[in-house]
Amino acid sequence: MRRFTALFLAAMSALTLSACANAELKTSTATETGALGNNTKQQETSFSNDTGNPTEEATEMDTIEIIINGQTFRAELYANTAAQQFKKLFPLHLNMADLHDNEKYFYFSDDFDTTDEEIKEIHAGDIFIYDKNCLVLFYESFKTEYSYTPLGRISDTSGLKKAFGTGAADVSFSIVDTVDADNRSQNFVNDISFNFETKTVILNSGYEMPIAGIGTYSLHGDTCVDSIVSALEQGVRLIDTAYMYGNEEEVGEAIRKSNVPREEIFVITKIYPGEQFQNPEKAIQDALDKLDIGYIDMMLLHHPGDNDVNVYKSMEKFVEQGKIRSLGLSNWYIEEIDDFIAQVNIKPALVQNEIHPYYQEQKVIPYMHDLGIVMQAWYPLGGRGHQSELLNDKTILEIAEKHGKSAAQVILRRDLQNGVVVIPGSSNPAHILENISLFDFELTDEEMEKIAKLDRNEKHDWY
Ligand code: NAD
Repeated sequence: MRRFTALFLAAMSALTLSACANAELKTSTATETGALGNNTKQQETSFSNDTGNPTEEATEMDTIEIIINGQTFRAELYANTAAQQFKKLFPLHLNMADLHDNEKYFYFSDDFDTTDEEIKEIHAGDIFIYDKNCLVLFYESFKTEYSYTPLGRISDTSGLKKAFGTGAADVSFSIVDTVDADNRSQNFVNDISFNFETKTVILNSGYEMPIAGIGTYSLHGDTCVDSIVSALEQGVRLIDTAYMYGNEEEVGEAIRKSNVPREEIFVITKIYPGEQFQNPEKAIQDALDKLDIGYIDMMLLHHPGDNDVNVYKSMEKFVEQGKIRSLGLSNWYIEEIDDFIAQVNIKPALVQNEIHPYYQEQKVIPYMHDLGIVMQAWYPLGGRGHQSELLNDKTILEIAEKHGKSAAQVILRRDLQNGVVVIPGSSNPAHILENISLFDFELTDEEMEKIAKLDRNEKHDWY
């Protein structure tokens, strides 16, 4: 419902452009207001000159995240009625028009309960409502004689003007859940059972992740961009990439190209032992730059390797800065996990390992689950070169026939019922759709048991 409101409002932006002239008449600009300095001294205001925040509201503020043209900023939202009404619209995605190269604005169709204040001085980063329904984000500081209802302020405005750029800007707003942030402690184990209604799981980081998505290991160039755009159009919301796949730029391009709001998409990437592990901060920044989608939902260490604990600690720093949301590991097994967890501050939220009917990880999965760590399967269909054997397995085909489903769907559904997230790779739109259409049938206990018996402990790759 909230998403519907946001989409509706975003759609309304086109209609509200005629209101630009209105805003131009009433909103002051950096250049125009230089001469207003003397007049403004006479105006009384409830704002402190130091912070620009309403003093009576300074104690109960929400932290929110604002993504401007793909770049992430944090802001404090005040406790007043209009700010709380604004918060109720989150997650919110708007196309905001520019005014006089100092502010972006958007007219809502409904009025807020506003309480106008004579601001005197606008600071870059201020978030206001002008009149009753015009949201304004400022990226220049200047004096003004106009009145606004303050909603909040962007905390660190470095890079703000550049992020806004000229012309209209793509802006998303969401809540930063401080309760979840507080819960990110070493001993915090949450309920990581899958929700088959929402098709998601809540990770131990507090973030929600889809349980069926797409892997991009062998997707490159235009094929990668087209496959991901098509996957997003078909409803895929979880994408797995890695530095090693050499396609982070293409994945980012596809996400920016698609019509799906950034905050609805969950992107996993990984950094690789060797050169990247020797200079982790650069490796992480490179991933952010290549993807260019504001923040990374989850970053994994691709394999154990020299310096891996320090590399993970570098990733933790990026989590603190809001540039990465969740952390995890790949190709980690029971022997290594406890020792690793003991050395880091943020518990891994996910372990991505080879898992398919011929290599089932029957001990590793419950072990990680007991630690509150979600498991994810790479090579869920056996991996390239092996999938035809798996997809033609007699037992799987029999079960598939009973349910009127494909062998691939049975294998993937079995993973989901086993608490394992799936990221099968494909560039074929029909297969991509098939691979997320896993929620209108259920395998019986007996069928689950039959598939469990297919385990051969047969790894299809070396790691
Ligand atoms: P996979 O097991 O997903 O199999 C992919 C093969 O199956 C492709 O040839 C594809 O065309 C085919 N296929 C896909 N859907 C199908 C369907 N519905 N019907 C018939 N055939 C279908 O192997 P993968 O893509 O190599 O692995 C999945 C993802 O796991 C990778 O893309 C990558 O993101 C990740 N991965 C991670 C690691 C790691 O070390 N962390 C290693 C390998 C792969």
